[in-house]
Amino acid sequence: MSLIVQKFGGSSVKDAERLKNVADIITKTYAAGNQVVVVVSAQGDTTDDFIEKAREVNLKPSRREMDVLLSAGEQISMALLAMTIESLGYPVVSLTGWQAGIQTSSHYSAAKIHRINTERLSMELDKKNIVIVAGFQGINKYDDITTLGRGGSDTTAVALAAALHADLCQIYTDVNGVYTTDPRICKGAKKLDDISYDEMLELASLGANVLHNRSVELAKKYNIKLEVLSSLTREPGTMVKEVEKVEKLLVRGVTKDNDVARISIVDIPDEPGNAFRIFATLAQHEINIDMILQSIGRDGKKDISFTVATAHMEEAVEALKTCPGIVAENISTRDDVSKVSIVGAGMVSHAGVASTMFEALYNSGINIHMICTSEIKVSVLIDRDKANLAVSAIHDQFRLEG
Ligand code: ASP
Ligand code: MG
Repeated sequence: MSLIVQKFGGSSVKDAERLKNVADIITKTYAAGNQVVVVVSAQGDTTDDFIEKAREVNLKPSRREMDVLLSAGEQISMALLAMTIESLGYPVVSLTGWQAGIQTSSHYSAAKIHRINTERLSMELDKKNIVIVAGFQGINKYDDITTLGRGGSDTTAVALAAALHADLCQIYTDVNGVYTTDPRICKGAKKLDDISYDEMLELASLGANVLHNRSVELAKKYNIKLEVLSSLTREPGTMVKEVEKVEKLLVRGVTKDNDVARISIVDIPDEPGNAFRIFATLAQHEINIDMILQSIGRDGKKDISFTVATAHMEEAVEALKTCPGIVAENISTRDDVSKVSIVGAGMVSHAGVASTMFEALYNSGINIHMICTSEIKVSVLIDRDKANLAVSAIHDQFRLEG
């Protein structure tokens, strides 16, 4: 007997028909002799619709009340799914985040799971129940409802898998697994049978949009076997696991991230302490920086460019204006850019990977604004209207279609 955590995303539970489909997957897993804990997201666009509803009454609602509102989406799903399973004659119980013992930090709308008190969950499993848990939510030390940030249900699933020592955590979505790139952008995109945690982490944070970043971090930390698969096709998906078992391929995937804006500051005095002041100021405002580029000093001046999430661009500029030695006229921004990246654990030991990527861009007449590399990725910042072309060109250049 295995303990399996199955998570179903919003599109997998969006209406009665999909709920029945999901109930069938769950009850088949249960009937095969497994213990099953299910995590659900809000149905379809429910979360977006709730955000819209909030806006209709208050443009700046408190995060606490937003969490009360948004967590309701998952509560609807869990009850409807439990009822669907009841109708098939199986024992089932649904639990909200707090009923499931999910204790979080107090940061409303961006809470982190601190610990899971598994008593209730274990009791329900002992009673042979299928247990449905609302994703994306928990409770903080003030007994208030918190949410984990958009897409957070994946993290709920992995955290439960860790706390319950599950044998497998399956993330059901509307794609068949993790692809070499977005199949909507590139027809030749190929499904990967497996991928390492580190590669998946890069893909998740680079905009591949398959898994919540923190869920992969957690899976890596607790060595949780994670499978990403479709609730519709019922074919094997992509296994996310430790690196040795992953076939060594130089480049595993190409991704595009549009949620990026570039900020440039010119004519900064070329002397110690300026980079520190700039980034310390941004850190105080909790603005995350991604790519950083500093020019060589000339005539006692230098330039620094960096990227932030688009939502942080305005705030970053305002913060920078308060920095000593920086004048507003010297700050410029662009939000019509994209970050395109290649990811692969085998990349470290191979020369020529970056140059192959740049060659593809050159052949397509695409100009590179910034470059950033790590052990397992190379990213470039380019004009957004060229991003899809870039992804396809790079995908072709590395022959990822297989
Ligand atoms: N319903 C939440 C969202 O849309 C959480 C999730 O789906 O994972 O972000
Ligand atoms: Mg999701």
